[in-house]
Amino acid sequence: MTPGVFEYHRPNTVEEALALLGQFGEDGKVLAGGHSLVPMMKLRLAEPAHLIDINAIDGLRGIRDEGDVIVIGAGTTQAEVLTSDLLAKKCPILPEAAAQIADPQVRNCGTIGGNCANGDPGNDDPAIMMALDASYTLQSQDGERQIAAREFYQGIYTTALADNELLTEVRIPTPAEGVGMSYQKIKRKVGDYAIAAAAVTLSMSNGQCTDAAIALTNVGDTALLPLAAADAIKGTSVDASAVDAAAEAAMAASEPVEDLRGTREYRTAMAGQMTRQAIVEALSRAAGS
Ligand SMILES: Cc1cc2nc3c(=O)[nH]c(=O)nc-3n(C[C@H](O)[C@H](O)[C@H](O)COP(=O)(O)OP(=O)(O)OC[C@H]3O[C@@H](n4cnc5c(N)ncnc54)[C@H](O)[C@@H]3O)c2cc1C
Repeated sequence: MTPGVFEYHRPNTVEEALALLGQFGEDGKVLAGGHSLVPMMKLRLAEPAHLIDINAIDGLRGIRDEGDVIVIGAGTTQAEVLTSDLLAKKCPILPEAAAQIADPQVRNCGTIGGNCANGDPGNDDPAIMMALDASYTLQSQDGERQIAAREFYQGIYTTALADNELLTEVRIPTPAEGVGMSYQKIKRKVGDYAIAAAAVTLSMSNGQCTDAAIALTNVGDTALLPLAAADAIKGTSVDASAVDAAAEAAMAASEPVEDLRGTREYRTAMAGQMTRQAIVEALSRAAGS
């Protein structure tokens, strides 16, 4: 199918983009990499009257180290995340996940902002941002606000983003040295969305887990943050019984739909298995284990 009729706008600055978003409200839609929005438009599941292409806004791109925070511009592509030396050194879960998102063609255009703003439970970055306790900077003509990734997702394609707002950057508290992290994703084939995936960050000191976060992709209406799963390993040596308890808690929190990727039972089991694998790998990467 072909998309409906729309007017195309290409602002050069954030201010121009915000003015267009303010002017068009729910009739306007931001176009970033287009790898989720354009297929939706072709299916007529999205029919914006005004398309606001943010690709000419240089200020939305780039990854920078602000000391206690790593800031990723919303227009930064997955390919840029994948090849970032800064992220490889300080937050390797992001390039690790980017390598598992779609294929090079999609990664060359698809953006971190689009992945986080889209609201599709199959997107990989939301769970990772939850595990990292990242926040999103949302700007409109009325000003700027920060919202935690953990509070942003409300349902399938429903987020806290208002019609007149632009996601301008993702802010990640710089992980302390020695934090172990891992993203484990099972999919039917290279380039596919997850059957289930788990993001884990954990800190160890003297053989005890002092902090942990676990988040899940594509086993609910949104990315999930099963607190009981993280609690199951905190304060333990992350031995086999603690890992089992965390995997059980992740499965208990999962509510996947049955689809081409598998039955509810299979996808729930895979949420547990990905949690298990991600914990084991994060532990092997953590200092102080
Ligand atoms: C074949 C294929 C396989 C894929 N596999 C995966 C996968 O395995 N994992 C995965 O995570 N994704 C996958 N994707 C989706 C891909 O990662 C998309 O690029 C991503 O979901 C959206 O990013 P985008 O930059 O393309 O955004 P767009 O498609 O341009 O936009 C997506 C939505 O976000 C909004 N938006 C975008 N940027 C902003 C912003 N800065 N502020 C406010 N709103 C904004 C748009 O208005 C739109 O509603 C796949 C896509 C394809 C085509």
